[in-house]
Amino acid sequence: MNKIDIERKIYNSILQSRQDAEHQADVRYYKALQNAEFAEIDKQIRATIIEKAKTEFDGKNSKKIDEKIKALKEQRAKILEKMNMTLNDIRPQYACKICNDTGFVGNSRCSCFQNAVSKELFKFSNLSETMRKTFEDFDTNIYDDKKFGEKILLLAKQIVDSKGAYRVPIVLFRGEVGAGKTFLVECISNELLNKNVAVIFMPAFELSQKLLEWHLGTLEEKNVLQQAFIDCDVLVIDDLGTEPIYQNVSIEYLQNIIDIRIMKNKLTIVTTNLLPEAFLERYGDRLGSRLYMSDNALKLEIKNRDLRKK
Ligand SMILES: [Zn+2]
Repeated sequence: MNKIDIERKIYNSILQSRQDAEHQADVRYYKALQNAEFAEIDKQIRATIIEKAKTEFDGKNSKKIDEKIKALKEQRAKILEKMNMTLNDIRPQYACKICNDTGFVGNSRCSCFQNAVSKELFKFSNLSETMRKTFEDFDTNIYDDKKFGEKILLLAKQIVDSKGAYRVPIVLFRGEVGAGKTFLVECISNELLNKNVAVIFMPAFELSQKLLEWHLGTLEEKNVLQQAFIDCDVLVIDDLGTEPIYQNVSIEYLQNIIDIRIMKNKLTIVTTNLLPEAFLERYGDRLGSRLYMSDNALKLEIKNRDLRKK
């Protein structure tokens, strides 16, 4: 799923909840009409409202009718009370009182819509609750060379600002263990999520398992995984080179994902500690050239001593 699919899914569920609320109110209203006293007063209110409209249409003062409607409504409230009901029972109870489950306030999205999209995007991202680092947590001082830290931060911000439509479809961060690669892509992923971009964050180990599932799964499972990896706006693969490789599966499927994503101009961000020779040896020429040699890929060496030792 990409961002548009997620937004559509949420919007449909908001409209569904509106329909449900209205349907339930209708059911309770028709039930209340079984009570003759209620039915009578309800009929009178309706007739008086029409009378008011006619009076106003004729340009006459409707103040007296307003008072009549008010009195009738008070009577109706008392009848409802006798029936152990309130006015709320015969009115739709929308989940969001701001937009009445329409998803919009004027031309802008209601906060309920926006929050649901953010929540769904986060759920979809595969980032755990503990992985919520953003650029606010980014301290350029942790780099051996502060200038270099600033350069990385600038690049990361450019990637985020592009919302996934970056100038190249592949960004590869190489660095030794503990150089802060995962932290960097975690920040980028969360910042993209905050901009409502559909990101999937996949540690390579997990990716390897998923690709095996894809290979062995039913058609439906295959579709779900294909949609996730190929359609997401940004795919982040963390620590490629540490995962087990399943023959005829891991490399072939990964290659396929990367090829299609490049073709569709969708951004894939990869981190690895493998140097080019080791990378090519492990993944072969085709995948190696896509990620390491191509003009479509931006490669950056994260130079840093082991952050965990600092
Ligand atoms: Zn709302």
